[in-house]
Amino acid sequence: MAKTSPYMAFSRSGGLLEGLADQLSPQRCLLCGGHATSGVCEIAGPALCGDCHADLPVVTNPCRHCAMPAVGGKDVCSDCITDPLFEFCVAAFEYAYPVDRLVQAFKFSNNYAAGRALAEPLAQALLAHYQFAEAKSDCEPDAFVSMSTPDVIVPVPLHWWRRLRRSFNQAEEIADIVCDRFPSDLSPQLLTKGARRILWTRAQSSLPLKERRRNLERAFSLDEAVAAAVNGKTVLLIDDVLTTGSTLLALAKRLKALHAKAIHVAVLARTV
Ligand SMILES: [Zn+2]
Ligand SMILES: [Zn+2]
Repeated sequence: MAKTSPYMAFSRSGGLLEGLADQLSPQRCLLCGGHATSGVCEIAGPALCGDCHADLPVVTNPCRHCAMPAVGGKDVCSDCITDPLFEFCVAAFEYAYPVDRLVQAFKFSNNYAAGRALAEPLAQALLAHYQFAEAKSDCEPDAFVSMSTPDVIVPVPLHWWRRLRRSFNQAEEIADIVCDRFPSDLSPQLLTKGARRILWTRAQSSLPLKERRRNLERAFSLDEAVAAAVNGKTVLLIDDVLTTGSTLLALAKRLKALHAKAIHVAVLARTV
């Protein structure tokens, strides 16, 4: 996400310039309006103060396959025991107040600071999972196979008309941040071209579930470059919000048909 304000760029240089920048444009927390300069959140960045970031809602005991709450202290929910939604799925937050407001400000008011405030914690959560999986692999080789770091990142594409109206694809912005945070030797390939959404599928809530799923699978066009990039590889799909999972599942199916080895999913927030 290259749209930081000039004042944020000043702040990174520190010293005299930092003080000057703060006077010209003091950073205020997007949620409480307090001066974040006295307590900039190290995880969410300057858009949120540490207290507001700590109060953001998270999914309690999330299932590792769908990020819904799992009961009984398990890491897999009852639905995913027999039919896992994805090989791995992580949501940084629960889609509830005030995360919903931050997501909406990001998507519909081009508030990149709000997007970054959620995407940075997502990147940290992901890396923590992957590092944990690698550490675990020393004693459990099988765990490593299912949790290998992604080779390829695919942000969920927007239909061209929606992208034109919004001027950006929020999933690409999130994917940029996530990709940047991987250690350079593990850095996945970021695919922002080649996967396209060719069908407008907004008004289909009245359709039966089966028909909806069929429509969604036809909604994506994946070119030869994508096919070559995902063949035999672990793919990380990135989106802003996970609700029913139909869109992500449709894209995952198409990628599996192109012989992707495993599909991981990372989203800013999950409805529960
Ligand atoms: Zn605050
Ligand atoms: Zn689950």
